[in-house]
Amino acid sequence: MKIGFIGLGNMGGPMAANLVKAGHDVTGFDTASVAIEGVSMAASAAEAAKGAEVVITMLPNGAILRKVAEGVIPAMDKGAALVDCSTVDVDSARAVAEQAEAAGLLAVDAPVSGGVGGAAAGTLTFMAGGSDAAFAKAKPLFDVMGQKAVHCGASGAGQAAKICNNMILGVTMIATCEAFALADKLGLDRQKMFDVVSTSSGYSWTMNAYCPAPGVGPKSPADNDYKPGFAADLMLKDLRLSQQAAESADADTPMGALAQALYAQFVEQEDGKGMDFSAMLPRFEKRGRNG
Ligand code: NAD
Repeated sequence: MKIGFIGLGNMGGPMAANLVKAGHDVTGFDTASVAIEGVSMAASAAEAAKGAEVVITMLPNGAILRKVAEGVIPAMDKGAALVDCSTVDVDSARAVAEQAEAAGLLAVDAPVSGGVGGAAAGTLTFMAGGSDAAFAKAKPLFDVMGQKAVHCGASGAGQAAKICNNMILGVTMIATCEAFALADKLGLDRQKMFDVVSTSSGYSWTMNAYCPAPGVGPKSPADNDYKPGFAADLMLKDLRLSQQAAESADADTPMGALAQALYAQFVEQEDGKGMDFSAMLPRFEKRGRNG
């Protein structure tokens, strides 16, 4: 398939490389100078999109996506698909899909989970929003870049699924970390805490699969000085998107709002920038009841 790929950063680069390895013809564009083996680079996003059956975008945020889409949509052939894999706000995802459909294109919002490791290994999970025809067109490419693709509903549904999942993840990570810090102060051994909680009703992915306590549970970023993994900055981005969506949909999300405030404090005022999101545990460890 002839594919245009716009945004070849930490995620987009390895995703494009996997498409090349699977035999697809990939033309890329990025504002930074990047080189990916087998990807021919175009001079603009519109040039990368020209003649492509599918154009994939993997960009930092909704404002950039909207800008890139403005240039790309008029360059694409009718019937081609615009597949945005970035994590962006639901409103931007829907606006871009509307523009694409008005121009006779298929559109899919398909944010991913699985991080840089999943992008390199081709094991991402795609959460997709768009028409059946649009999803069907993109599905063979999701199968190359990932191990699972869920068609969540109409345009925006992929982004909705992503931010709801990550809101649960952020809240749960904080709950797990504050409980470990409390256990420490109560003199409870961390391994014993893990043994009990991981097999009791407090279990969660953050406890069982991504334990924030070093040396406890399966290997996780906690065992690597809290190097990401999934960076606290990216968790903050996703929590902000969840609260933006909650605001625009008039949904009451007090735990999500508090998680956003705590990650904002951690990343912007404390030492959380560049750390894994599970580094909330050493943060709580250092604190007392009044900060
Ligand atoms: P990144 O910053 O490494 O890559 C973004 C790329 O887009 C950069 O190479 C940048 O130069 C390029 N870019 C910016 N503006 C552009 C423009 N106008 N035209 C063309 N290229 C442009 O970020 P990333 O880690 O690859 O993340 C990409 C997206 O995936 C984000 O929306 C992020 O939230 C999401 N995501 C990231 C992870 C992760 O673990 N890194 C996990 C899941 C989802």
